[in-house]
Amino acid sequence: MSDNSTCDKTRRTLLGAGLAAIPVVSAVGVSLLAGAPKNALAADMVNPDSAQAKALSYASVSTKNGQTCSGCTLFQGDAGAKSGSCPLFAGEMVAAGAWCSAWVPKA
Ligand code: SF4
Repeated sequence: MSDNSTCDKTRRTLLGAGLAAIPVVSAVGVSLLAGAPKNALAADMVNPDSAQAKALSYASVSTKNGQTCSGCTLFQGDAGAKSGSCPLFAGEMVAAGAWCSAWVPKA
């Protein structure tokens, strides 16, 4: 038996173990999601009365001409989306038409 043969068997063993683990990981993920409350999967919108929102003068509807979250470089949402995430409000969603004092135009 050559070294290549031993190496091939080890590779096959590792690949087999990795492939066998995929359904187990998927099943665990699906069962966790199935047990989660419905709202746990959807982030809440930023509360304009929260300390973070007040510190950044967040407004759910922008009063600044041409300045909205959807046009901010920090906005993480699909084009045309009504809301998206923002790193300044981790775990929450900002309205596409909102604004805060950290607004920076998209490049
Ligand atoms: S930084 Fe402010 S303006 Fe920009 S996306 Fe976040 S909340 Fe909106």
